[in-house]
Amino acid sequence: EPVLHLSNICKTYNAGRPGEVQVLRDASLTLAKGEVVALVAPSGAGKSTLLHIAGLLDSPDTGEVEINGVDLTGLGDATRTRARRAQVGFIYQFHHLLPEFSALENVVLPQLANGIAAAQATAHARDLLDRVGVGARASHRPAALSGGEQQRIAFCRAMANRPSLLLADEPTGNLDPETSDQVFGVLMDLVRDTGLSALIATHNMALAARMDRVLRLEGGEVSGAV
Ligand code: ADP
Ligand code: ADP
Repeated sequence: EPVLHLSNICKTYNAGRPGEVQVLRDASLTLAKGEVVALVAPSGAGKSTLLHIAGLLDSPDTGEVEINGVDLTGLGDATRTRARRAQVGFIYQFHHLLPEFSALENVVLPQLANGIAAAQATAHARDLLDRVGVGARASHRPAALSGGEQQRIAFCRAMANRPSLLLADEPTGNLDPETSDQVFGVLMDLVRDTGLSALIATHNMALAARMDRVLRLEGGEVSGAV
């Protein structure tokens, strides 16, 4: 069964009010286990809306969101929140790390919130930080780190609870081209090693070409053609 299946998703903001905008009109996509798929969309096309719906942060007006074979569309907020915490990792353009905590703590905390014991959470966090090459920076706060290092730590945080689905919105979009290229390679290695399925929104066609498949979001629908 697919890790993610979106079928016929529709989403309109401000329905029946000034500023009404139909962002998704019939968006469908399927992500198989281990697949890494690029989502390419012009600005304003609804990429963030689609990722938030896929990650159970937002609800569609109509259509279905299935994660690992479970249709989560009609379920209550508590169930969806539990499913999101256990199964979905998010990465944004900006790292959103907690500024008052160290790199290590930023990767440990989501695991504690998920009921993992501190010793085990710390060991897993150290392993993740080592794998992306920032083990030596574990005790630093985000502000003391470079943009590339901050993003690597955000990757570790997204992976901390061993999700089956990774959703990324321009994960290297804030970095200069050279750093972006490097850090994207690190992300791909981590995703491949973990066997995770990932939907990665990007404007960068060179990065999109390094993924298994490219999807395009335009006119509220998802298509395979680029
Ligand atoms: P993208 O990520 O592709 O730039 P978004 O999903 O953020 O696109 O937004 C798609 C469209 O929906 C835009 O026109 C945006 O202004 C509008 N939009 C997004 N979120 C809201 C909201 N909460 N309320 C009203 N309009 C919104
Ligand atoms: P952009 O990529 O448009 O510059 P950001 O990277 O700041 O903006 O945020 C991207 C999206 O992530 C926004 O839609 C924001 O609402 C959402 N977001 C920010 N922080 C969190 C969080 N802790 N959990 C879930 N969503 C978040």
